[in-house]
Amino acid sequence: MSKRGKNTANAVAIFNIDDLSTWQKYRKGLCDTCHATCCTLPVEVTVSDLVRMTLVNEFEAEGDLKAIAKRLQKARIIDNFNHKTAIFTLARMANDDCLYLDSKTRRCTIYHQRPETCRKHPQIGPKANYCPYRPRE
Ligand code: SF4
Repeated sequence: MSKRGKNTANAVAIFNIDDLSTWQKYRKGLCDTCHATCCTLPVEVTVSDLVRMTLVNEFEAEGDLKAIAKRLQKARIIDNFNHKTAIFTLARMANDDCLYLDSKTRRCTIYHQRPETCRKHPQIGPKANYCPYRPRE
């Protein structure tokens, strides 16, 4: 979901970011049977997202973003920070799942506070209007 993707070869995600034939055109209801594969892609977020996610307070958000990045990297909540674009990338679990994905239900545990990137997927993403769909097991 920038979702900026990558080639993914683990057991869960069997799509290739560069090969549209491994993606499915989004249609209503597709998410109901999906393994939430979109929640295994790297998620880019802004400081506003981090405030909504209650990881950063509004006062801190006005300050040094590098200091925020350092704190959240230490806490393993973000993987990296691009100071030129002021974009943070959320960390993921070893199996590529988002930290906020419930591994059993495959639902977002912060749905109402989720980042803009997630709200806009799949209309905006690595393959606009396509999903890295994989059926639930
Ligand atoms: S924040 Fe929620 S919707 Fe966004 S990738 Fe993580 S689990 Fe999925």
